[in-house]
Amino acid sequence: MSRALIIGAGGVAGVVVHKCCQNSEVFEEICIASRTKSKCDALKAALDGGKTKITTAKVDANNVEELVALINDYKPELVINVALPYQDLTIMDACLATKTHYLDTANYEPEDTAKFEYSWQWAYRERFEKAGITAILGCGFDPGVTGVFSAYAMKHYFDEIHEIDILDCNGGDHGYPFATNFNPEINIREVSAKGSYWENGKWIETEPMEIKREYNFPEVGKKDMYLLHHEELESLGLNIKGIKRIRFFMTFGQSYLTHLKCLENVGMTSIEPIEFEGKKIVPLQFLKAVLPDPASLGPRTVGKTNIGCIYKGIKDGKEVHYYVYNVCDHQECYKEVGSQAISYTTGVPAMIGASMLLTGKWKKPGVYNVEEFDPDPFMEALNKWGLPWKESFTPDLVD
Ligand code: NDP
Repeated sequence: MSRALIIGAGGVAGVVVHKCCQNSEVFEEICIASRTKSKCDALKAALDGGKTKITTAKVDANNVEELVALINDYKPELVINVALPYQDLTIMDACLATKTHYLDTANYEPEDTAKFEYSWQWAYRERFEKAGITAILGCGFDPGVTGVFSAYAMKHYFDEIHEIDILDCNGGDHGYPFATNFNPEINIREVSAKGSYWENGKWIETEPMEIKREYNFPEVGKKDMYLLHHEELESLGLNIKGIKRIRFFMTFGQSYLTHLKCLENVGMTSIEPIEFEGKKIVPLQFLKAVLPDPASLGPRTVGKTNIGCIYKGIKDGKEVHYYVYNVCDHQECYKEVGSQAISYTTGVPAMIGASMLLTGKWKKPGVYNVEEFDPDPFMEALNKWGLPWKESFTPDLVD
């Protein structure tokens, strides 16, 4: 009997729940638990009646005791954390206390500092190992599939990988002048931060949006993309031996960038609390409250995403170039699970990672990033569960 506890009931959680129900052979029972229980109940109402038995619960995932009580009561084998990055450590603590496996899609970030890195979660390695439980970190698309792609490239096509460019293109249009495709607070914190890339063993920092390139994305077309710091750079820099450079680029339209600049200039993206009518408010949290809920973008978004990685390296003494990517259509996702492609491309890999763990293919005590597991069963599952990938050995390169 496989039983999973899903924490969070937002855009990504909605896709995870749909996909677990499609994969009922593995997910016989799921519990959806979040801060706002009505959102969990709405998901249950939409999906009840299939083979997967769904229950719901209310939980404040910032509170370890509440989490431990819920886990002891429900007794899942695994917790799938699709709440926010702020809750990663409390949920890992609860998993340790109850000896329950753990999976998430984004690395820990303290709420009062816009800084994300793996050090906090990697510090749990020994404790998870001793407890005999597995933690899989960053199992969305990027991070997530980008790490699986890297392990697959290394296993099948390269003796050494020297350079990786991760390209995240959203060619979708939701018709709003400004909206974010996933949690606005997390998204704006990420894109307004300084950029950086990994080169010859050290980080090179850039100003936000300083490095711009144009790329002609298969099935999407030409887009401007900008270099950002991104969490998988940190783990791939360590786990892909011999790597000399890794960069991450994301596409942004001019309207998004102009609005973001304006919001920044007037102080609306700040995470420093300010006094407003006798109350302390965080400008970015207020901005989140007035922006469209990403979960509401599904019916309006048309177009495709293309996310993938370009590798340069050596096989049998010869230089090899390899591009592997997935193209995902926003409207197709909406028809299937009622969400746009950003939530879909995150939720599907989270379900697949969870099923890898529950079926024992990716189970080893400790704390791991996805590229540390065998990529082959995951790559096969991507084709089966809605994120088929394509490859090219003659891609356009990014200069
Ligand atoms: P949403 O904001 O749509 O959903 C977050 C959910 O978490 C909400 O249901 C929210 O509850 C719940 N939540 C927040 N705080 C708590 C708490 N203290 N206790 C319990 N529940 C809580 O976010 P998304 O679904 O867009 O994103 C989910 C995660 O996926 C994020 O960590 C994000 O960074 C990550 N992500 C990863 C990607 C990848 O490719 N790796 C890409 C996109 C996102 P409430 O409804 O009450 O607000």
